[in-house]
Amino acid sequence: MDYFSGYISNLIEQLSSLPGIGTKTAQRLAFYIVSQPEDKARHLAESILEARKNVRYCKECCTLTDAEKCPICSNPRRDKHTIMVVETPRDLAAYEKTGKYEGVYHVLHGAISPMLGIGPDDIRLKELMTRLAGDVNEVIIATNSSLEGETTAMYISKLIKPTGIKVTRIASGVPVGGDLENIDEVTLLRALEGRTQL
Ligand code: ZN
Repeated sequence: MDYFSGYISNLIEQLSSLPGIGTKTAQRLAFYIVSQPEDKARHLAESILEARKNVRYCKECCTLTDAEKCPICSNPRRDKHTIMVVETPRDLAAYEKTGKYEGVYHVLHGAISPMLGIGPDDIRLKELMTRLAGDVNEVIIATNSSLEGETTAMYISKLIKPTGIKVTRIASGVPVGGDLENIDEVTLLRALEGRTQL
């Protein structure tokens, strides 16, 4: 990439290290950024820094938030006795968009994958178990229907069983291997309503 300026090459390199951004897209973004007024570029850089500095994990559900507790956990109208376990904050957002779920969430930030070397200690499982010491009626496992998602669901249900808390799994209206965030709201609701006890 010697034919680009060193600054451009560096920017392209940084951008292409982001997930889902290949070299071509990184080049397009880099040229776009340097063609913009300096103010706009500064805004972009500052929002990245500010988000990185200020965003943290909710102390209850582990989703990403600006405060100690996320807006869902701090909402007194949410049913704290029902916890839906999801893999990522994006999955949480998908269920929130349906506007029909009244419980709270627990975000694992990943799924168990022996193939990728991701074990139970690498996701936010301990935090979930701590929460279950409180007053919880049902844990709805809404991990993806991928191999990793199913492995995680199985593992969690085995872990929770001895506590006597009801464990359910969302119905398989969600296509196999499908990421929750890409599924429409009707399908998500159907999967939630058709959940079965494990
Ligand atoms: Zn929360």
